[in-house]
Amino acid sequence: MQIKNLQKRFHIGRSQTLHAVDGVSLDIAENSIVGLVGESGSGKSTLGKTLVGLHDKSGGDVYYRGDRLPDRYKSADYRRYSKNIQMIFQDPYASLNPRMTIEEILTEPLRLQHQGDSKSNRELAASWLQKVNLHAAHLGRYPHEFSGGQRQRIGIARALITEPDFVVCDEPISALDVSVQAQVINLLGELQDTMGLTLLFIAHDLSMVRYISDEMVVMYLGSVVEQGPSDDVFFTPKHPYSQALTKANPLADPKQEKQRSHDLIKGEVPSPVNLPPGCRFVGRCPKASERCHSERPLLQPVGRDHLVACHLYD
Ligand code: SF4
Repeated sequence: MQIKNLQKRFHIGRSQTLHAVDGVSLDIAENSIVGLVGESGSGKSTLGKTLVGLHDKSGGDVYYRGDRLPDRYKSADYRRYSKNIQMIFQDPYASLNPRMTIEEILTEPLRLQHQGDSKSNRELAASWLQKVNLHAAHLGRYPHEFSGGQRQRIGIARALITEPDFVVCDEPISALDVSVQAQVINLLGELQDTMGLTLLFIAHDLSMVRYISDEMVVMYLGSVVEQGPSDDVFFTPKHPYSQALTKANPLADPKQEKQRSHDLIKGEVPSPVNLPPGCRFVGRCPKASERCHSERPLLQPVGRDHLVACHLYD
């Protein structure tokens, strides 16, 4: 997947424009897991939804295996691309239709692709339930009969039943209990391995992203501010925002925890409606200089395979 200068804008009211994704460029290699991190409002979910055609693109290009994906999907485009490009949603309660049985939910993507007949699709759905550690006998049940973790596993089976290559995982564990999160992550890791999937894994928990992904991309206010090998970005973050994000994970040692609370960035991600002309992080950055207010930093190499958008590295 090649993403070039992708833009997604929403027009709100007569004269205001919300820049949710503002010029993101990214290459995602086959069979890799790329973790996309950032606070709520950084644009990461909008980016994921734009890649799978759930949002129209406002600008830029996305290529999948060299094929330019449409700016606005029509029904035929969904049929053509959803076999290979799929999405696992954040909320396992809202993403499954409560009126459909698990069999209907799992076989729907196959029916949309005109794949198989009802008998073979039923067998495939049963085998996918087993792959995600549920019982084939549960095909006749409804979503409300399952726990959050089980529903998310059904969501994973639904996304993977057409055997896609590329899957956007949009915060797939954030609505789950901590005890269930590791099970879902390990399941995704195993399936990625056995099916040779390419995953864009969106999350705000950096330690989980570091655990599962090869590369980490940090977004702030619609733009990428840092990207590189996961261990590098996690252990030696270069951008002041990434440094603050890594400090957001609580520490077991009370002394270190006290120091950590001092170092946390204050405030929230500002509105993407009135973007500052210079660095987008300037209002919260402890290292901001005068230049940061007027000049926007570009993403540039800092060390091997590591890119950072910050004037500290010019
Ligand atoms: Fe901070 Fe300036 Fe770097 Fe932006 S460009 S992150 S404001 S030091």
